[in-house]
Amino acid sequence: MLSHNLGYPRVGSQRELKKASEQFWAGKINRDALQKVARQIRHENWITQQSAGIQMIPSNDFSLYDQVLDTSLMVGAIPERYNQLVDGKSNNELDLYFAMARGVQKNGVDIKAMEMTKWFDTNYHYIVPEFVKNQKFNRYSDKAIVEFEDAKQKGILTKPVFLGPVTYLLLGKEKEAGFDRINLLDALLPVYIEIIKELVSRGAEWVQLDEPCLVLDLTNAEKLALQSAYAQIREAVPNVKILLATYFGALNDNADLAVQLPVNSLHIDLTRGAENLPDLITNQNFVASSKYLSLGVVDGRNIWKNDFRNSLDYLNTAITALGAERVWIAPSSSLLHSPYDLDLEKNEDILTPEMKNWMAFARQKLSEVAVLAAMAGTDYEKEDAFIANQAAIESRRSSALIHKPEVKTRVEAIKLKDFERENEFSVRQAIQLEKLKLPLFPSTTIGSFPQTDEVRQLRAQLKKGTLSQQDYESQIEEEIVKSLRWQEELGIDVLVHGEFERNDMVEYFGESLSGFVFSQNGWVQSYGSRCVKPPIIYGDVERPAPMTVRWSAFAQANSGKLVKGMLTGPVTILQWSFVRDDQPRKDTTFQIGLAIRDEVIDLEKAGIKVIQIDEPAIREGLPLRKSEWKAYLKWAVDAFRLSAAGVADQTQIHTHMCYSEFNDIIDSIAAMDADVITIETSRSQMELLDAFANFNYPNEIGPGVYDIHSPRVPTIEEITLLLEKALNVIPARNLWVNPDCGLKTRKWPETEAALRNMISAANLLRESVAVER
Ligand code: GLN
Ligand code: ZN
Repeated sequence: MLSHNLGYPRVGSQRELKKASEQFWAGKINRDALQKVARQIRHENWITQQSAGIQMIPSNDFSLYDQVLDTSLMVGAIPERYNQLVDGKSNNELDLYFAMARGVQKNGVDIKAMEMTKWFDTNYHYIVPEFVKNQKFNRYSDKAIVEFEDAKQKGILTKPVFLGPVTYLLLGKEKEAGFDRINLLDALLPVYIEIIKELVSRGAEWVQLDEPCLVLDLTNAEKLALQSAYAQIREAVPNVKILLATYFGALNDNADLAVQLPVNSLHIDLTRGAENLPDLITNQNFVASSKYLSLGVVDGRNIWKNDFRNSLDYLNTAITALGAERVWIAPSSSLLHSPYDLDLEKNEDILTPEMKNWMAFARQKLSEVAVLAAMAGTDYEKEDAFIANQAAIESRRSSALIHKPEVKTRVEAIKLKDFERENEFSVRQAIQLEKLKLPLFPSTTIGSFPQTDEVRQLRAQLKKGTLSQQDYESQIEEEIVKSLRWQEELGIDVLVHGEFERNDMVEYFGESLSGFVFSQNGWVQSYGSRCVKPPIIYGDVERPAPMTVRWSAFAQANSGKLVKGMLTGPVTILQWSFVRDDQPRKDTTFQIGLAIRDEVIDLEKAGIKVIQIDEPAIREGLPLRKSEWKAYLKWAVDAFRLSAAGVADQTQIHTHMCYSEFNDIIDSIAAMDADVITIETSRSQMELLDAFANFNYPNEIGPGVYDIHSPRVPTIEEITLLLEKALNVIPARNLWVNPDCGLKTRKWPETEAALRNMISAANLLRESVAVER
């Protein structure tokens, strides 16, 4: 049985690439120095995979920024606005590449970056390819060849990895009307073919073409494109062996299509599509072919140790049906989505040896793949590696650290009425109007204020122990009071405490809840040089003590105005963490939902009258297949309602989301039944509000009136214009005035100027629109 790998993390075990890229962008190191770091990481990765016992090792899985951008550069899909960087004498691939990724504003050149969006349902972001009607493709970057040759010189014959042509086109966007990007396939393929041919001539035996689009709902045209693409590649390069990689889901209705494509090996993700295995290995077309079947048994997207018994069952079933030579083993997907190496976790007070024994990061996953490859088809029950693995699995299954009967009982005891506020929105609105006495077009902000170096220093010093808890708290209090006075002076109606005590909106809550643990080095690439260190949810979640009440109560006590309590919602906490694989996501989310519910109730008891529960991740949690949306949206909305519904009608619940593409899920957004929702709309000039208007969204809305992602200060006129547009579709009594998102990434001067203009615009509007609230 052959063991292989689809891709490896590339930021470096110490985030060397992040550091080098940022230095390069800052002009502190030159191109060669950056390339040297990149080469070192690639070499280390190859050696790591080789010494773990992986037989077929990938190349071209490395990227300086993003593999989709690499593909655009490979096929010369370079948007016109970068032409001056392509044509000029100083043509330099690296400058062009980073300009596409990040934009340039230098030496009189000012070009916007390409758009970025989420890679399938992961937290990785890719650079969206841009296509025009007469899109030309030309071989541009030789990165794949360079990396292949580099590995060859080190004595490793790699399997070059490419994003497949059909998925590549589907991930892109048409930048003008009048064509469908899927029809660009025939123009695109010659570039792929030319590069694959050259790799073959240089000694490549296998290439891996990733077509994760095979786990999505495909149109007929898209299915035909897949057939045509692989027929053409096969015909043009008959002697190359192709591994077609699918991942992130089941093939389901695309299985027949996948099986018939003229490739030599098919990879499937068994952590998410195990139901396809019995069908595939009895599929006559597949059995009668000589194709290999690559089983992705080791989860590429989580940090848990593989259950060898489970994996060996899959592997042996496949071996029985196809013979051992035809079965391959690999991680489910690229290991890009796993942290580097569990052995780097040295702090045993945090990640105890017991818990560590339940986990596997990327390097450990390689070993799992190699060990499983050796065990499959043998009498493994008595082997040490198997016994040790099963002991670890059992230790986790039964650990008292994980299982808290009282938490499980509480989830089971949830009643329908726990999801319901006392009265429906119209009743609540009337009560809140009377109790909160807010003016027409109330103004607020989304929660965080600028995180200055001084504030970050405070938290860092507390963590290091160089600042006492008491001194820390009194300094944070000072920051809060300053911000309250400042908000009052500006004339904001509903104040916030500023979130100075928070490093990150999920980490802060993870640190206060039981059932969460944090790694020291478990970084995962989010985009470019940006890495995140997701919390690990390992056990039943409980709230040992109130998490935010202390700060919110302090803030409320120090202002005569309303101060909003500020929480992160259960779905977002789940979505941005590594999650348990031993219970449904829904169960974990409900546990978190109950913890947040308790916090909401405690805030209410402490006199907080307005409470915001942020849920920016609800939309990105949507399953890849539409058929699964309904079930997901049901429990996601329920989890939010569970967290919010424990308070009296007069307590106003807000939620916030960092986007507003709600067309296809607006009914679920309405079903969350938040009294007020604040969303991002300014970049689309309020156009996205139409979804709310068409749906007759009943509750109050704060469509963001300016884009906080830019330091630019919006004028009063601009804001007024946006507010007037909003008033065309939203009843005046339901309209709030607020920025797009939290202000933590901004600086104070621009924040103050922007909010001042925002308040002026709200006041002007109140004067011109004479309605009663
Ligand atoms: N309350 C959070 C903040 O203001 C919300 C952040 C977010 O939506 N991502 O920072
Ligand atoms: Zn936001």
